[in-house]
Amino acid sequence: MQYLSTRGAAPALSFEAAMLSGLARDGGLYVPASVPVMSKAEVAALAGQSYEDVAFQVMRPFLGETFTDPEFRTLIARAYAGFGHPARAPLRQLAPNHFLLELFHGPTLAFKDFAMQLIGQLFQAALSRSGERVTIVGATSGDTGSAAIEAFKGLSNVDVFILFPHGRVSEVQRRQMTTPAEANVHAIAVDGDFDTCQGLLKDMFNDFTFRDRVRLAGVNSINWARVLAQVVYYFSAAVSLGAPHRAVSFTVPTGNFGDIFAGYIARAMGLPIEKLVIATNHNDILHRCLSTGDYRTEGVRPSISPSMDIQVSSNFERVLFDAYGRDGRAVAQLMDELKATGGFAISQGALEMLRATFASGRVGEDETRATISRLHRETGEVLCPHTAVGVAVAEAHQGATPMVTLATAHPAKFPDAVEAATGLHPALPERMADLFERPERVTRMANDRQALQALILERTEG
Ligand SMILES: *Cc1c(COP(=O)(O)O)cnc(C)c1O
Repeated sequence: MQYLSTRGAAPALSFEAAMLSGLARDGGLYVPASVPVMSKAEVAALAGQSYEDVAFQVMRPFLGETFTDPEFRTLIARAYAGFGHPARAPLRQLAPNHFLLELFHGPTLAFKDFAMQLIGQLFQAALSRSGERVTIVGATSGDTGSAAIEAFKGLSNVDVFILFPHGRVSEVQRRQMTTPAEANVHAIAVDGDFDTCQGLLKDMFNDFTFRDRVRLAGVNSINWARVLAQVVYYFSAAVSLGAPHRAVSFTVPTGNFGDIFAGYIARAMGLPIEKLVIATNHNDILHRCLSTGDYRTEGVRPSISPSMDIQVSSNFERVLFDAYGRDGRAVAQLMDELKATGGFAISQGALEMLRATFASGRVGEDETRATISRLHRETGEVLCPHTAVGVAVAEAHQGATPMVTLATAHPAKFPDAVEAATGLHPALPERMADLFERPERVTRMANDRQALQALILERTEG
């Protein structure tokens, strides 16, 4: 299996190389040259299997020769062993035809663990075979960083540096990043906001001398291996609800378009998904885009669902690549226009393709709070604010087809918003109840790329 860049000007890579590099050198994102299709009988045979067995069968065709089957099975088993629920991604019924897919039973209580735990294992296996070392640098508004640290801590061939905006992540998120004691973990609090952190990261990736010297690797949601790991739970959920004999729809709280793009891949593989519904908070570029055909950035406004506070949805480029007939030059032009003018208009043909697969909705802050409060009152379910955005949009799109809303984080990760809406302080699960007693370790830095690179060199080579 080969992987192509969405901008058409970087070499095609194997699964392993695409995973280890993250971003293509032409600025594009890697996508599989073709999507393997599962037959109806193969999908039907997934019913009743463990999450790990479903994961193996869904992901195996994408890997090529990177791992043997027994190796890959072992890595999957290790990735999900630390989850706090035997089903890994259990379904819970909210209303007669509406289900929640709970994706928060991993070690850091957000769905990011599904992909990050697996790629921690995949990186370690690939690197220990080649004897190489890589330096992972990630920028985070909270959830990606804690999931990456949890996945890569203590691994022998990896150093992990996570940049987060000082004072702008929740206390639970910060402590998940600063309390691991392993020497290969480096939490860095940057003076600035999330865009400052992401800007530093991008500049380091574009400094090819530095990038090659420390073997920089990226694990943010543009890494194809992360998208792939997320395809699995669309299958496990749909099959539990009667696929392939019955179609299912999904509503996905969306920021960088990674999670919902995984649903798009599941659909392309033959899973009968009727609609994929994009749910956004007031940072609604994707909803506006689908409604008007104009993809245009406005400033980010903070919300109570901070993991969706973004204005450039990186993974949207992957679906545009398909919508434009896999023409890398056309995608590169759109991205140039975005950079130069802050937006672009989508062609009529591409927009029709998108609307055939996706629907969308937007939820403001008051409605998010009201949804948390109402669901708690009516069903006893306590939703995190991101999940509440999803539930509100799903309700507006509910039809005869079963609807599954992705519950992207545990309410205890966002206790202030949840307490304000329900009067209830959501407790951390037992296994991390001592989070507030563990000692913290963090380096504070100014927005200064030279100083940051010097620190990385000192910690990795010194
Ligand atoms: C990352 C995140 C999202 C958004 O996911 P994308 O893949 O960026 O669309 C939604 N909810 C939570 C809790 C997250 O951590």
